[in-house]
Amino acid sequence: MDKEKERVEELTKILNQANKDYYVLDNPTLSDFEYDQLMEELQLLEHKRPDLKDRLSPTNRVGGFVATGFKEIHHKKYMLSISDVFNEDEIYNFDSTIKKLTGLKQIDYMCELKIDGLACSLLYKDGKLDIASTRGDGSIGEDVTNNVMTIKSIPYQIDDKRELEIRGEVYMPLKSFNLLNDEKRKNGEQTFANARNAAAGSLRQLDSKVTAKRKLSAFWYYVPEALNLGFRYHSEALDYISSLGFITNPERRLVHSIDEVISYVHEYHDKRKSLAYDIDGLVIKVNDMTLYDKIGYTMKTPKWEIAYKFPPEECITKVEDILITVGRTGRVAPTAKLQPVRVAGSLISRATLNNEDYIKEKDIRIGDYVYLHKAGDVIPEVSRVELKRRSEDLKPYIFPDTCPYCHQKLEKIQNQTFCTNSSCPSRKINKLIFFASKNAMDIGGLGDKLIENFFNQGLVTKTPDFYTLKEHKEDLMMMDGIKEKTYNALIDAIENSKHNDLYMLICGLAIPLVGKKTAIILADHYHSLLALKEAKFEELAQLKDVGEITAEKIINYFKDEDNLEDIARFNEYGLNFYTLKKVEHIADNYFKNKKFVLTGSLSVTRDEMTERLENLGAISSSSVTRKTDFVLVGEEPGSKLKKAEELNIKIFTEEEILPLILDAEKLSNN
Ligand code: NAD
Repeated sequence: MDKEKERVEELTKILNQANKDYYVLDNPTLSDFEYDQLMEELQLLEHKRPDLKDRLSPTNRVGGFVATGFKEIHHKKYMLSISDVFNEDEIYNFDSTIKKLTGLKQIDYMCELKIDGLACSLLYKDGKLDIASTRGDGSIGEDVTNNVMTIKSIPYQIDDKRELEIRGEVYMPLKSFNLLNDEKRKNGEQTFANARNAAAGSLRQLDSKVTAKRKLSAFWYYVPEALNLGFRYHSEALDYISSLGFITNPERRLVHSIDEVISYVHEYHDKRKSLAYDIDGLVIKVNDMTLYDKIGYTMKTPKWEIAYKFPPEECITKVEDILITVGRTGRVAPTAKLQPVRVAGSLISRATLNNEDYIKEKDIRIGDYVYLHKAGDVIPEVSRVELKRRSEDLKPYIFPDTCPYCHQKLEKIQNQTFCTNSSCPSRKINKLIFFASKNAMDIGGLGDKLIENFFNQGLVTKTPDFYTLKEHKEDLMMMDGIKEKTYNALIDAIENSKHNDLYMLICGLAIPLVGKKTAIILADHYHSLLALKEAKFEELAQLKDVGEITAEKIINYFKDEDNLEDIARFNEYGLNFYTLKKVEHIADNYFKNKKFVLTGSLSVTRDEMTERLENLGAISSSSVTRKTDFVLVGEEPGSKLKKAEELNIKIFTEEEILPLILDAEKLSNN
């Protein structure tokens, strides 16, 4: 069965119906975000399988249809759509493409708000408004002249006798939209889903008296024939139509670099909430119109402009399955496998469901549509179920009572479920994966799949076995994807890990509740693994950030014969058991002994940045308190930035901190 063909057909059907609901009935049944996701999925599939692309695919369609009852207007120039982008990388790519296509090193851009209404074209002849039309399908629109004439700000006559077409967006201000819906509610009528649909429903009326009552407005943003009329720059054309009496949007900004575009994007992430009308993104246009033909067009969109769509704070997607994994400590972790969806800029296909109680409380079922949001800075979480879209046959999810991997009965401790079988294969594999991961021993080249293969072939069943792999060269060379070069690199990485700092090894032991942060505290306090092994409960429990529960886990870990055997083997293979660099040994520099917190995404991973700062003697911490010395802020920072501002704590951007880091590194290398 051709799964991709089936999906293309399914997506085509859903998108065609959504277009009809949105453009013809002005009553959308999907959120814009969902629609954009499905459209992107179809585009990707058609790109991968051009044989499945139909001439009539929704990906080729500009806008909607021409409704019956309206006179048809043939546009002189197509009224195209705009390509969407969803994150900053795509904006930078747009700039690179424009520079490549034009051969220019510097480009001026006009940044505009993307007004959420419907496109409208006004044609003036002999200084008088002749025809107003909607975009329709891009080639043929609907004649809405009488309706447009009810919009008070639109000039009937202008001081220019040439044939002049002006395009823009008719929209409903939020105040009018709220009043209209209040009235509809009072009369027991169906309300409009949003201001865009209200505007479209009001302009595309056969009775212009209805339009007149709806208090529409418009912003004008494009003069298709501007070059022929003697304007070289889009900004000039806008200033000109503004001087003729058309309302242009005052928030537009002419900028001279892509970095300024990004600043504009940041600025309107917040400002959009205080506007008197809805916008669904920003439009970024090349300002010099003489470049347009060189840059070109696709069937559906000009290539000299893009629409940046704001990430929704929440979005909806389908739970395809609930997966159960048994982690390295035996904790049973339920995860939702989702229909891929973009949340705050990244594509998400899984979300944690935390534990059994969480699933029960929210009544999450396989097949449900759920709302997702990003919890804190990274992990996406299911916030609630959309009950309106639940189909009747969905059954409540039953949490397993036996381990799906070793079939032993699961144990519930407080609100968490555990598989207590230390030989459970899932636990064992996850323990191995964790040992090699960046958070622990950081052994490059040991990917999850490879580790699983080693485990299944009995080559590595316990962590010390990694250090005996070099004795199994022949077995390894018979495995898929391992050649002499990869083998050598892998063995080198494993051998090098023997010199890791103590905290990495402590972390790799996978003692329950001992993650990287606690491992660092333990390494800093005991300086040797053997000293930690002999540590007393009371002493451990008193350590900052350790506490009694973790102390008990540590004591139990070192009582277990199996674990002691692992440690003896690590010793035999020559793994380092001591702390390498103590803060006291680090040369004095700005960062030494300073407590810092990271928030938002940086140009390198957080682990890399943390390690760099820790090497300079700085102390990483996860929450901002009065004791924090500085906060390093990346893109899309979380609530930590706000907290730091409230507490008046020094804030660095990555750009600001890098020169200081380089200086400090120079000092410590001398
Ligand atoms: P678009 O609305 O994303 O972008 C093009 C339009 O932007 C132009 O036609 C113009 O009307 C408007 N615009 C606003 N301000 C502008 C400015 N300053 N400069 C230039 N243009 C500006 O593209 P589209 O093809 O009209 O519609 C597709 C979008 O409509 C989808 O991405 C989706 O968000 C929405 N849609 C939703 C559903 C649904 O079911 N929810 C269905 C169909 C379409």
